[in-house]
Amino acid sequence: MTGNVSRGSAANSFRAFRVAVEQGGVKAGVTLLSESDLPAGDVTVRVAFSSLNYKDALSARARPGVTRDYPHTPGIDAAGVVLNSSDPRFSEGQRVIVTSFDLGMNTSGGFGELIRVPGDWIVPLPAGLSLREAMILGTAGLTAGLALEALERHGLAARSGPVVVTGASGGVGSLAVALLAARGYQVVASSGTAGARAWLGEIGAERVMDRGELGDASERPLLKAVYAGAIDTVGGNTLVNVLKSLQYGGAAAACGLAQSPELPLTVFPFILRGVALLGIDSAGCPMERRVEVWRRLASEWKPADLEGFAREIGLDELDLAVDEVLAGRTTGRVLVRVAGE
Ligand code: NDP
Repeated sequence: MTGNVSRGSAANSFRAFRVAVEQGGVKAGVTLLSESDLPAGDVTVRVAFSSLNYKDALSARARPGVTRDYPHTPGIDAAGVVLNSSDPRFSEGQRVIVTSFDLGMNTSGGFGELIRVPGDWIVPLPAGLSLREAMILGTAGLTAGLALEALERHGLAARSGPVVVTGASGGVGSLAVALLAARGYQVVASSGTAGARAWLGEIGAERVMDRGELGDASERPLLKAVYAGAIDTVGGNTLVNVLKSLQYGGAAAACGLAQSPELPLTVFPFILRGVALLGIDSAGCPMERRVEVWRRLASEWKPADLEGFAREIGLDELDLAVDEVLAGRTTGRVLVRVAGE
């Protein structure tokens, strides 16, 4: 059985933020789609909330490397309620989270009131999180959690020394600051957003430094050993300088490329200080690990003031918000109300 999901719209139709490529230009806006526009899949979910991630902004502007075919509905994050399922693991009315895999990339995503996905992509909403809170965290929270878990598996502990977070005012960065601080780490936030300094202190950064401090452009093989660990969301020369500044045996978890995908580095930090570079990928992360990180995000890792990390927008406001993300003018998370709870 399928339901009419959008009050005031035609039966079996639903609202979606749709992106089309026409005559070389990109057009994006809210339109009505029908269930038959959805791909084949096991589980149909009514999306209550989504969130706007950097990757969604790239997809919404048809930048290369994210989405192949248009028209398309972006949105790599979705939290909602199962409408119908042919997968026995899920039942009508169940509250679920779907993030990454191919959602919003080449599969119709969370910026539509309905998604249809394989059961293997679905995480049951863990106890301790509402659908809204799940999307304030979203892929950014999952990624920050995976980075923290990877560092701790490597041996990092609160007593090890300071941990630097780059791109700290962004979605992944700000949640990483909060998760680390709540676990007792001494967090140094690196940010280029002067207006976010006070907030970064409030969410747990012991020191906030201008991102220029990690801007050394010399070819020195090593810099002063300062940090026991790092969560890097920007890549490029910043990650190079983070690796050069790690203490002996330290580790950096690399998850982003907001500055650059390049990594112009020598092997010296690895062979002279035994540092480690840990790669973080939330998109293909195996289900077992994904479920465990979501469980921790919903319980012992859950930030105290999640609402403070996000501003809420509707589907109609997405087009403007996409430009803000691409211009680096957002801080924290952008929560997208889709069909609501
Ligand atoms: P946001 O846009 O929310 O944050 C990015 C932050 O990076 C900005 O807020 C800014 O922080 C900083 N920044 C932006 N431009 C530059 C620049 N030119 N040089 C240095 N710093 C810059 O993005 P997200 O937090 O959602 O994602 C961050 C990165 O992580 C992206 O590259 C994204 O693609 C990637 N990502 C990877 C995932 C994975 O699984 N590996 C999952 C999710 C995201 P400030 O002003 O504070 O310096």
